[in-house]
Amino acid sequence: MALAVQPIASHFIDGAYVEDAAGAEIACVFPATGERIATVHAGMAETVDKAISAAVHAQKDWARIPGRERGRILIRAAQIIRDRNDDLSLLETMDTGKPLQETLVADASSGADALEYFGGLAGSLTGEHIQLGEDWVYTRREPLGVCVGIGAWNYPTQIACWKAAPALACGNAMIFKPSEITPLCALKIAEILKEAGLPDGVFNVVQGMGETGVRLVSDPRVAKVSLTGSVPTGKRVYAAAAEGMKHVTMELGGKSPLIIFDDADIEDSVGGAILANFYSSGQVCSNGTRVFVHRAIKKRFLSRLIERLANAVIGDPRDMATNFGPMASQAQMDIALAYIDKGIAEGGRLVAGGKRIDRDGFFVAPTVFADVEDGMVIAREEIFGPVMAVLDFEDEDEVVARANATEYGLSAGVFTRDLTRAHRVIAALAAGSCFINSYNDAPVEAPFGGVKLSGVGRENAKAAIEHYSQLKSVYVRMGAVEAPC
Ligand code: NDP
Repeated sequence: MALAVQPIASHFIDGAYVEDAAGAEIACVFPATGERIATVHAGMAETVDKAISAAVHAQKDWARIPGRERGRILIRAAQIIRDRNDDLSLLETMDTGKPLQETLVADASSGADALEYFGGLAGSLTGEHIQLGEDWVYTRREPLGVCVGIGAWNYPTQIACWKAAPALACGNAMIFKPSEITPLCALKIAEILKEAGLPDGVFNVVQGMGETGVRLVSDPRVAKVSLTGSVPTGKRVYAAAAEGMKHVTMELGGKSPLIIFDDADIEDSVGGAILANFYSSGQVCSNGTRVFVHRAIKKRFLSRLIERLANAVIGDPRDMATNFGPMASQAQMDIALAYIDKGIAEGGRLVAGGKRIDRDGFFVAPTVFADVEDGMVIAREEIFGPVMAVLDFEDEDEVVARANATEYGLSAGVFTRDLTRAHRVIAALAAGSCFINSYNDAPVEAPFGGVKLSGVGRENAKAAIEHYSQLKSVYVRMGAVEAPC
């Protein structure tokens, strides 16, 4: 499939492609073959400064445009994304290695959903009127200013849009730094926003590694940082943002529980567990990687799971038949393989996969460990790969306590036909995004984010507006001013 993936230049600043050849070279590798398909350069201090200056300059005028007009531009961009879904999905596949079967329905289209949704809200962002006798207070909902978005490599298009859409709807400008593993997709979003009529400088893309991120986060002209990444990076970015008392949204990692009770539909719960562990080759932050299965159905569950995994079509992610692709990078594959070794060494019973697949690229077989104990490393640490840990349980209170015994709290799921138990258990689980008889749905209408170490703030839904705007209270006195002297 022919697709020109080498971008015109590395960065998109003030409405145009910009190169910074002095910056370190970043190789973009197609994970299914290991071949380099594009090269970009990290933005040096001067490039970061140029992007921030452009954003500062553009933001003021952008904020003055009526919300409905801002929204119209975002909605137009959403339509262009939908029109170009095939090309954008293929680019996402080249950038990440995820199967085209997935990217055609889950990436550019999810980005378009966000632009459409927040575009629709932009005209109705309001403050309130508070009557105080004859006097009153009104609040103005104002943008924060210049926002920085920093992305992980698993959903480069979606992450760029999930951050840009609410930020821009509220009248902010944004500088987005993609992960160095997946530098390509955000540039296309910048191009499309410009084509849709976004004024130059309102959305900028600067490539780079952590160092570029540090420069962006620590710049005093930046008012807000929204990071999607790991917990260790989240702690560093949060601390750096605190130095300037900046607003933050932190979408971080997880080790989420998926609880399958003995009355659950076996076929649906196996399907849920597959979605919760093997979609995007397991590289999804909200994955339900601790699968607690009631002892009474464990045998049936495992045998059906193994049967269905045998049908995984592993191969070139550009082939529409492929439903299981490579991991995004050699480094991430090595991390997953090291965890598999740890699981075996700790006595986990390997019932599926457990090895690298013998072909070019970064393929790890869909892997399932049974008889996993709570204390094992594979049950405690985020692997971010296609490795499912199945744990046994018997009692509801016991499983809720064990599910919550983690420092993470991003997601949680329950499969049961008992309606009251489903709601009771979900209410008792410490997690931001929960699922009943389903897993990993992320519609833009629902707030998304974690509790505990999994994050701060929420993306998507009306909740995101609170994280990209601030209220100014204005007291209006109608009578004389009474002063003590
Ligand atoms: P990292 O935390 O390694 O990196 C995230 C981003 O932060 C990258 O763009 C990275 O740059 C940048 N970065 C690294 N250090 C700094 C720093 N000190 N200051 C500013 N920016 C910095 O995460 P990964 O890219 O490896 O992504 C995987 C992680 O993301 C997993 O833990 C996963 O759970 C989490 N995630 C969370 C989601 C959520 O919504 N909760 C969704 C998707 C993923 P570079 O990599 O270029 O060096």
